[in-house]
Order: sequence, then C-alpha cells, then structure tokens
Amino acid sequence: MHDEQKKDALFYESSVRFDANRIRAAAVYCSDGRFGEHFDDLLHNALQLPKYDRLAVPGGAACLAGHFATYREDEGVFAQLRFLVDVHGLERVVLIAHENCAFYSERLRVSALQLETEQREDIRKAVRKVRSLSRTLSVSAFFARKHRKDVIRFESVEL
Ligand SMILES: [Zn+2]
Repeated sequence: MHDEQKKDALFYESSVRFDANRIRAAAVYCSDGRFGEHFDDLLHNALQLPKYDRLAVPGGAACLAGHFATYREDEGVFAQLRFLVDVHGLERVVLIAHENCAFYSERLRVSALQLETEQREDIRKAVRKVRSLSRTLSVSAFFARKHRKDVIRFESVEL
C-alpha cells in the first residue's frame, strides 16, 4: 500500500540549482501576479540582487504606511520584515509600488485621481518605518508604470 502510494506520487524536480548563500536583501511589493516577473527582472537584472527575499502582500508598501483601515496588515507586514532583518541579516530593502494598484482603490478607497500621489506619500512613510528597524539598512524605492502597451518601466522614487 505504502509503495503503491509512493509510485503514484507526483513530483517535479527543479532544474534551478540551489545556492544556500543569502543575498541579505529583500523587496516589499504588491502580490499582483501580473507584475511578478517584472519585479524579478528589476531585482535580478537592474539591481543585481538574485535570490532576494520576497515580501509580497496586497498593496506592498501601503501596509507599512500606517493606514488606520489596514492597521492589522500593517502590524503583520512590519513583524515579517523585522523577522527578515533579524534572522536573514538584511542590509538592503527595496520597496516597489505599481500603477493602478487595486489595494488603493478597493481597500483604501482612494480615488483614481489621488492614487499615485497617495502611493508616493506611502512609500516615503514606509521608508521611514523600514529604516526604524535598523540604522544600517539601505532602502530604495521604485514605481512601476505601464510605459507602452505591454512595457513596464520602473521609476526610481526620490526619498
Ligand atoms: Zn497592487
């Protein structure tokens, strides 16, 4: 019975080699899967941060900006980031917001006109909060925007 179960078990062996070394960098961004590969592209290729730790939550940095409506998410994300800083020894954190984020329109009820202003303000608040975890953390931020029909462009956010 046991052998039979084993024979039928599905498995998939990844061809990606495992490297146990940590890069000591994390990115906080929105869960929106349409941007997932673009976020990886920015982190891997533009910032040269392979194997970065991912903290993907709806709204991304919105959950580090102290919104009353989402204080539970705020506490959770901050605790998760603190864990990564302490246990994985983070030295660098990258925050990424994206255009037309549904977390803002649906959860925070921000109007389309105010959305980007609010997101940029949240990034600045989130950066201050992240920096409060460790004085030595290097923090940077980006805004992802649809540049042409199917091209995503990342703009560095001045902090
Ligand atoms: Zn989003």
